[in-house]
Amino acid sequence: MNLYEFEGKEIFEKFGIAIPKSVLLRRGDKAEEIYKLFNTKDVVLKVQVLSGKRGKNNGVLFGSNVGDVKSAVDKMFVSNIRGQYICGVLMEEKLNIAEEHYLSITYDTNRKQPVLIYSQSGGMDIEDVSEEKIEKYYLDIRNENIDLNIPFANELWNCFIKNDARVVEINPLVKTVDGKFFAADSKIAIDDDAFFRHKEWNFEPRTMLGRLPTDRENAVVKIDEGENYYRGTAGKYIEMDGDIAVLFSGGGASIANMDALIQVGLKPANYTEYSGNPPREKVAQLAKIVLSKPGLRGLWIAGGVANFTDIAATFSGIIDALDEVKPTYPIVIRRAGPNEIEGKRLMEECAKRNNLNLKIFGKEIAMGATATVLFDMINVK
Ligand code: GDP
Ligand code: MN
Repeated sequence: MNLYEFEGKEIFEKFGIAIPKSVLLRRGDKAEEIYKLFNTKDVVLKVQVLSGKRGKNNGVLFGSNVGDVKSAVDKMFVSNIRGQYICGVLMEEKLNIAEEHYLSITYDTNRKQPVLIYSQSGGMDIEDVSEEKIEKYYLDIRNENIDLNIPFANELWNCFIKNDARVVEINPLVKTVDGKFFAADSKIAIDDDAFFRHKEWNFEPRTMLGRLPTDRENAVVKIDEGENYYRGTAGKYIEMDGDIAVLFSGGGASIANMDALIQVGLKPANYTEYSGNPPREKVAQLAKIVLSKPGLRGLWIAGGVANFTDIAATFSGIIDALDEVKPTYPIVIRRAGPNEIEGKRLMEECAKRNNLNLKIFGKEIAMGATATVLFDMINVK
């Protein structure tokens, strides 16, 4: 999960990394009153979104009087920063910048160990800084201290380890004209699998897409909560703006199917993927939510040849939803694996009693090819 700048800075502060004086404004807060809390005339206003590159997209503005500050904040709350949800505006004391450095720690996936990356030429054009100007230090996870002459290196290392972070980044790491260092920005990505040992992680809702989760997305997450987590998963669901509902199984196959769907010219209404032999009830809950999206024009149920997922049991979950919803739009299924004959029989019976426009295939045809079948069924005259 990615954190907002203001959340990252709160964490930085706890670990001894200096941050500029800052106050978070939420929608409806009075900018002029918060501005009064600052002793300095010059402030920076920073839109709080989950993407970077705000500096180049009008997401970082400056103000030096009440009028400017107020209009900048008003503008920010209605602005469109790469389509991202704006959770707030951070008002900060403006730093008098002499230099912008870059400092980050992440995992190097080739070396399989953490790496610290530092450059004296940081800032908004860090991607264009030449290799020679970038220093890399591989870190030993067993060492509590790192012996580098880089501002906040130790503090950031501590912050990285203690927060189960995947990435911590300070860009720019500012050196002010009077020689002090500050984290002027923060980027932290935490490891979602570490939630169980961080009681302090009560972050506000967000999605990877930079927007708030929808009601259906929130409902699907609940399917895998608690002990249910260990019985096969059916709790992944991302809503999209197309009109073809999908029910995929298996991680890699699902991504390939998503591509196949788009390639034939259909638009997904959602992404979802169940796997690990989830029980009938879980699949039924997921399928009911998937089918509850308004405006659907088709349903594609697809997956590879399962090793141990019970096709009849998982199909029974989908059938529970089909019996309830009785869709009138075309449905295409491609799936194989244990108990497939029984699964197919149950599905065909369901189609018959509900008069569904449904075609079902097994391993005799490639997964992706059945996207074309759905396309043709939708586009018949
Ligand atoms: P990003 O573009 O989303 O990474 O946003 P940053 O927080 O990194 O800000 C972008 C740029 O705004 C920085 O590289 C600085 O040049 C400038 N900036 C941010 N805070 C300050 C500040 O306090 N004083 C000054 N002078 N510039 C700032
Ligand atoms: Mn930045």
